[in-house]
Amino acid sequence: MERETMEFDVLIVGGGPAGLSAAIRLKQLADEKGEELEVCLLEKGSEIGAHILSGAVFEPRALNELLPDWQAQGAPLLTEVKEDQVFFFSGPDSARRIPNALVPKTLHNEGNYIVSLGNVCRWLGEQAEALEVNVFPGFPGAEIIYTEKGEVAGVITGDMGRGADGEEKDSFEPRHGITREVHTVRRGLSWQSG
Ligand SMILES: Cc1cc2nc3c(=O)[nH]c(=O)nc-3n(C[C@H](O)[C@H](O)[C@H](O)COP(=O)(O)OP(=O)(O)OC[C@H]3O[C@@H](n4cnc5c(N)ncnc54)[C@H](O)[C@@H]3O)c2cc1C
Repeated sequence: MERETMEFDVLIVGGGPAGLSAAIRLKQLADEKGEELEVCLLEKGSEIGAHILSGAVFEPRALNELLPDWQAQGAPLLTEVKEDQVFFFSGPDSARRIPNALVPKTLHNEGNYIVSLGNVCRWLGEQAEALEVNVFPGFPGAEIIYTEKGEVAGVITGDMGRGADGEEKDSFEPRHGITREVHTVRRGLSWQSG
C-alpha cells in the first residue's frame, strides 16, 4: 500500500514525561552545538496529556536540571508538600502515627509537589514545541518499520477516521510512515537504531 513517509533525525513514540523530556533535552543539546536536529514526537492521545494519569507526587530534581527556569515559565507545580504524616493502621478504627525520624527516606515528600501529571505534560509539550519539536498528538505508532537488516527504521501510524465498523469515513486519513535515525520509546520499551 502506498503511504506518505516523513523523515526525521529522531523519532520519539509517546508524549509522557519521559518522551517529552527526551525531546526537549535533545533539542537543547543540538541548539548548544548549533546543529540542526529534526525531532518528531508521536502521541496517541488526542492531545499531549490526554492519556496521562491525572495525579502524582512530583519530585522536581530532574525538572530543575532540564528546565531550571520552570517557575518563571509557569510550570503547573503549584502545591508544595509541606509536611508528611505516615500512619500504621493496626485495625479498622485504630492507627498510630509513625515518628518522621523512623519513616524511610523514600516516603518523605517534603519539597515535592502534588500535581496533575497531565497538566505537567501539556506544559512540557509547549516547551518542546517552543524548541521546535514536531509534536503530533492523535498519531499512534501502530507498527514498526524495519530495514532489510532488521534494524528499526521508524513506525507506521494508525489509520485515522475509521468508523466503529472499520469502514473509512469522510475524514479518513491513511497511515503515515515516519522514519528516523534514533529512537526512544515510551515506558517499558527502548528501541535503538543499530
Ligand atoms: C497509579 C499510578 C500512580 C502513580 N503515582 C506516581 C506518583 O505519585 N509520583 C510519580 O513520580 N510517579 C507516579 N507514577 C508513575 C508515573 O506515572 C510514571 O513513572 C510516568 O508516567 C512514566 O512516564 P513515561 O513518559 O515513561 O510513560 P507514560 O506516562 O506512561 O507516558 C506514555 C505516553 O505514551 C503514549 N503512548 C503509548 N503508546 C503509544 C503509541 N503506540 N503511540 C503513540 N503514543 C503512545 C501514551 O498515550 C502516553 O501519553 C504512578 C503510576 C501509576 C500507574
